[in-house]
Amino acid sequence: MQTHNLGYPRIGSDRELKKACEKYWAGKASVEELMITGKNIRHQNWMTQKEIGIDWIPSNDFSYYDQVLDMSLMVGAIPKRYNKVILDKSNTELDLYFAMARGFQKEGIDIKAMEMTKWFDTNYHYIVPEFESNQKFSLFSTKIIDEYLEAKKAGIKTKPVIIGPVSYLLLGKEKEENFNKLDLIKNILPVYVEILTRLKEEGVEWVQFDEPFLALDLDTKTKETFEYAYIEIHKQFPYINKLLTTYFDGIKDNLQLAYKLPIQALHIDLVRCPQQLEEILGNIPGNIILSLGIVDGRNIWKNDFENSLEMIHKAVSKIGADRVMIAPSCSLLHSPVDLDLETDTKSLSLETKKWLAFAKQKIDEVVTLKRLAEKENDSELQKKLQENKKIVESRRTSTLIHNEKVKEKIKNIESVVDKRESIFSERKKKQKEALQLPSFATTTIGSFPQTSEVRSWRSKLKKGLITSLEYEELVKKEIEKTIRFQEKIGIDVLVHGEFERNDMVEYFGEQLDGVAFSKNGWVQSYGSRCVKPPIIYGDIFRPHPMTVKWSSYAQSLTNKNVKGMLTGPVTILQWSFVRDDQPRKDTCFQIALAIREEVLDLEKAGIKIIQIDEPAIREGLPLRKNEWKNYLDWAIKAFRIASCGVEDRTQIHTHMCYSEFNDIIQNIADMDADVITIECSKSDMKLLSIFSEFKYPNDIGPGVYDIHSPRVPSKQEMISLLQKAIKSIPVDQLWINPDCGLKTRGWEETKKSLIEMVGAATEMRKQY
Ligand code: GLN
Ligand code: ZN
Repeated sequence: MQTHNLGYPRIGSDRELKKACEKYWAGKASVEELMITGKNIRHQNWMTQKEIGIDWIPSNDFSYYDQVLDMSLMVGAIPKRYNKVILDKSNTELDLYFAMARGFQKEGIDIKAMEMTKWFDTNYHYIVPEFESNQKFSLFSTKIIDEYLEAKKAGIKTKPVIIGPVSYLLLGKEKEENFNKLDLIKNILPVYVEILTRLKEEGVEWVQFDEPFLALDLDTKTKETFEYAYIEIHKQFPYINKLLTTYFDGIKDNLQLAYKLPIQALHIDLVRCPQQLEEILGNIPGNIILSLGIVDGRNIWKNDFENSLEMIHKAVSKIGADRVMIAPSCSLLHSPVDLDLETDTKSLSLETKKWLAFAKQKIDEVVTLKRLAEKENDSELQKKLQENKKIVESRRTSTLIHNEKVKEKIKNIESVVDKRESIFSERKKKQKEALQLPSFATTTIGSFPQTSEVRSWRSKLKKGLITSLEYEELVKKEIEKTIRFQEKIGIDVLVHGEFERNDMVEYFGEQLDGVAFSKNGWVQSYGSRCVKPPIIYGDIFRPHPMTVKWSSYAQSLTNKNVKGMLTGPVTILQWSFVRDDQPRKDTCFQIALAIREEVLDLEKAGIKIIQIDEPAIREGLPLRKNEWKNYLDWAIKAFRIASCGVEDRTQIHTHMCYSEFNDIIQNIADMDADVITIECSKSDMKLLSIFSEFKYPNDIGPGVYDIHSPRVPSKQEMISLLQKAIKSIPVDQLWINPDCGLKTRGWEETKKSLIEMVGAATEMRKQY
């Protein structure tokens, strides 16, 4: 029996990578300094895993920004617009890489970033590869080989990780019409072959091919491409062991396909789909090793050893120990790094902490499980097993987790009103009167720049260097400055700027009962951006109002309408570590009831517009289509529970980003928010085409510029986007706004961009 790991978090235990990247981007560190940080993190990760005793440690799981972008650079899928960056010899390979990720603005050159989208149903974002019909590929970056050699030099023989050719193509986007990206397989395979040749020369034994698409619904062409690709690879490399990994769902109806592929090992996710074990053990071909993804790579709960051992024993007795591997369910990229660093018992009580395992602890669980499975009589190991049993049992019974009052409310959830009083057209009239907004009303998505200064206040407060009164004064000043700025440039619906929030989910989690926090439990979201997901461990309720104070203060400063800002139940659920001891749906309804109370309190305080952000609705969709309906039913209901308690004249907004929501547009309409603001700018309003077919009934604000890059858009650019938009959206339904919150931006570009945006609105009002 062997153990392996699919990938280790690369941000560093103290987010060293984030800090180093941002310093480099700001011109405050050299490329050499950044590369030293990268190297140190890789070494640290390899050593940690080696010391714990994992047999096959991954390499090439490190990335400066994103592993899919690494692949694009590796195979030379570099969009032509970056040629200027390549030609300028003063730019390094890393500069080109970051230009693709973040856009490039220097000395009159202005190149847009590549698109970014969510990695399956996670909150990790990858950079979408761009393909042309005659896309050429060639080995451009040798990172995978370099990192293998680097580890080898440090005395570790790793298992390089590569995104399999089929999944890589499927992750990309066709930039021209009339071709199918899968037809590029013939062009791309030679690059894989070249890489494998080089790896083989350096002594590689195992290569991990990530093919997460094997756990999704596949059409015939995709299946054929899988067969073709792996048979070709095998022809060239019969002697490299190929470990094919699937995760985030079961292989299900693709199992026979997987068996046809000439691979040596198959990894399955037994956390998301434990049911698949039985069938697979029954029919797995005799030459394939089975890797049991048994320790949850997506959540932070301690593994239930008894349960895992049962599965391991089953597998061993069926196919023999030498055909069994043990591993986390997926890459630990989605887990925080190290629970040992959580020493602050105020934020994470000892009671809660003992239920948890982060990446490093998960690696230890994998190794312990293997040892337990091999040596049943070792008394040290038996002690560990007994301890584990006790912990698992304490989660079942702890009064910290179980609150009968909340459970009672969930039982009666059907009696909560989840419909607005009147239909939208009626509400619209009343809101028009109450709000007095112009056509093409302008607004923003909520946050304004979270400068290092703003963040420093919070950290001073936490360290006790300033009092909470002093902190509040500072935040209030920033709110006032932001309100005055918005008034001055003529935005119609103002926001307070969310300066009091570290993060849109964490902020709410911190105030809700049933939610715990780590100090350092960061997980990469995109590039250098990390989030610290709350840990929903118990029944949730709201002990006191969470945002009313700030929204009321902001509203008191101005005669214009200030929009209240909340995070919706599905997003809080989706971006938290969620308990695994009750259905997600029940947890979501608990949160929805808490948000509903907040909405009603805001309304009572005189806030006339309330935005409930649900950027995560789409990403919560199950990977398999036949499970969509069930999810959408409860997710949409949760939003309605949260939002529908208000009077007609109160305007409910919602916001979504990165959403290819064409396929769930009806459900989004069913949410019945009065206004929805969405991301569109990156794909040149293409997302809007749906609105010409589907008559979206309520108001829409398609984002007119991309806030994920520091680039300042011109008024003209936004006008031409809006002109596209009015082809599918009636003028009186249209709002004008950026495509997401501004918190990651600096003030300078924010000011310039918003002035241009208001200019675009003025122009549109003149024209229409
Ligand atoms: N209101 C949030 C903000 O502006 C929304 C962020 C998001 O959609 N991710 O930051
Ligand atoms: Zn957004």
